[in-house]
Amino acid sequence: MTEANLDYTPLAEALSAASTIGVVGHVRPDGDALGSMIGLVLSARAAGKDAVASFGEPFVVGDEFGFLDLEALVPPREFPKGLDLAIVCDTSARDRVGSVVGRVESAGTVGVIDHHRTNGDFGDVTIIDSDAAATTQLVYRLLRLLDWPVTPQVATALYTGLVTDTGRFQYSSTTPEVHTIAGELIEAGAVPATVGQSLFEEVPFGYYAVVANVLGRAVLEEEIGLVWSVLYKSDVEAADIPPTATDGLIDLVRMAAEAGVACLLKETAEGVLKGSLRSRGIVDVNAIAGALGGGGHHNAAGFTIEGSPEQAIARVRELLA
Ligand code: AMP
Ligand code: MN
Ligand code: MN
Repeated sequence: MTEANLDYTPLAEALSAASTIGVVGHVRPDGDALGSMIGLVLSARAAGKDAVASFGEPFVVGDEFGFLDLEALVPPREFPKGLDLAIVCDTSARDRVGSVVGRVESAGTVGVIDHHRTNGDFGDVTIIDSDAAATTQLVYRLLRLLDWPVTPQVATALYTGLVTDTGRFQYSSTTPEVHTIAGELIEAGAVPATVGQSLFEEVPFGYYAVVANVLGRAVLEEEIGLVWSVLYKSDVEAADIPPTATDGLIDLVRMAAEAGVACLLKETAEGVLKGSLRSRGIVDVNAIAGALGGGGHHNAAGFTIEGSPEQAIARVRELLA
């Protein structure tokens, strides 16, 4: 377990030396993974490098990220083999790189930039800081060290990671430095209203029915401080919304003041559930997710499990006790 590698120089030197650079984030990338890879690639291009971003299948980006410069991305099959340098961002473990992992590992050097309590089992050159609020915070520090351009589109991408991973600047990870960087990114051209409207103020109407179903079937187990619910594939199909539109549901499920831990089980295929766990701070949900083969952070973690929702919750209950 490597929780810290705060020396930026080796990765900065690798970036300077490389002519061809690829950047990937974890599968089903969130705002921080997308922001990190797009921000780093756009800045590298502006610095004269041949750079491209990608992530493992399914190669889908939600409409809410339409304000980002998605031109930086290519499908995983088009991610070049044998690059000088491939960098993996915001990814807690090698298996979260997904289908692009072979192409990434065919690069001359593999870099890692991350803020998870990661296994430290991959990457030749790493920057790992589990105190950082977002991976884009680390990318920003790296770009400043390199003195690479922070164009308005780079700033927008990096700002997106800060906003999403801090829950709009309100989680405990929101330090003075986070606000300072956010301010510098706004000065560089990020527009908070554009990012915020698209990410938090617009949903397809069909989402209302999904919210009603998920909150309607939520269960509070007050004696163990757990609130949980299930999202079925059929909920998403009936509402005709993209699967990526359900990423914010856990933020509704976890609002019950009676519960210190929340769990949302999303059915991804017949008999397969993706669990999202959130803690108010006392319980380490990373440990629970880890015991179930997943991972994440102290207050936000995830795992994949086979079986019924009742069986999955029974495991979570056991680990909570
Ligand atoms: P999520 O519940 O998908 O929003 O994920 C919460 C946090 O846990 C994020 O930091 C994810 O990167 C991490 N995470 C989610 N699923 C997994 C998994 N299967 N393995 C490792 N980390 C995960
Ligand atoms: Mn992420
Ligand atoms: Mn992150």
